[in-house]
Amino acid sequence: MITTENITKSYGNFKALKGISFKVPSNNITVLLGPNGAGKTTTLRILAGYLYPDYGKVEYFGQKYDENLEFKKLIGYIPENNPVYEDLEVTEYLEFVAKSYYLGKKEIKIAVERCALKEVLGKKIGNLSKGYKQRVSLAKAILHNPPILLLDEPTTGLDPNQAYQTRELIKELKKDKTILISTHILSEAEAICDNILIINKGEICASGEKESLIKQYSKNSYVLRFDGDIENKFIEMEGIKEITAKKENGETEFIIEFENDKDMRKDIINFAYEKKLPLIEFYKNKVTLDKIFSKITKERL
Ligand code: ATP
Repeated sequence: MITTENITKSYGNFKALKGISFKVPSNNITVLLGPNGAGKTTTLRILAGYLYPDYGKVEYFGQKYDENLEFKKLIGYIPENNPVYEDLEVTEYLEFVAKSYYLGKKEIKIAVERCALKEVLGKKIGNLSKGYKQRVSLAKAILHNPPILLLDEPTTGLDPNQAYQTRELIKELKKDKTILISTHILSEAEAICDNILIINKGEICASGEKESLIKQYSKNSYVLRFDGDIENKFIEMEGIKEITAKKENGETEFIIEFENDKDMRKDIINFAYEKKLPLIEFYKNKVTLDKIFSKITKERL
């Protein structure tokens, strides 16, 4: 568990973090999602001990951040752009890192197995694919078996297959770790997170479990598409909050929002059937992380 309270950080006169507070639960993947320049890297650097906050408190499992450097043993950190020694072979690199932690062959073997690196051990890191380079970084980060992993944009630059494999690997690691990942890619956040923190302009503007956040922003709204130019008869239904209509390509689309939370699917179907309306498509309008993110950061919609 990571807890932060009121963290602020300025670069000169510019306030990059404006007093952020959040919790990252254990055995969980929390995604720090925000647009470019929101303060993600600054937050991760502070949590990893590479930057000191101007103000505020960070605790790892109740252990205070600023008392000594012992907290660093709790952390595996992969910075942005995945820095690795390109000229070293994978084994050489992991042995080098292991030595710096006073670790041996046993720990290297475990990290190699967990990150599926056996077949590239003798290869130069510079000659590996980006996906494998990312796995080498993950192996380095988990070598000392830290309970916390901080990963700054871990799938940036990977092709969809490599990104998928990296995500699967990270999911596998959450069994025994607290994981915080930063990203500006919505599909990435959607695919991997249990919990989400949305950061914008140095402020946390939404946080919680992904599903409860989606529920919080959900509306009781339905999309109906009809063949032809259809008159809006749905205003006759009870509890309507808003109806929008769109006519194109010989079809009419209605988006109907209700005031209550009741499941209105049967009522709508029955109504359309009674009125003999030529329904060709119907579904509940689900809110996506994309829409929530846009609404909160007010950059799109
Ligand atoms: P990105 O997704 O582009 O990496 P980010 O969310 O990680 O962005 P940060 O890198 O934390 O954002 O930067 C937050 C803000 O602080 C940005 O406006 C950035 O320009 C600024 N900033 C970051 N590092 C410094 C620095 N060393 N000196 C001055 N300003 C900085």
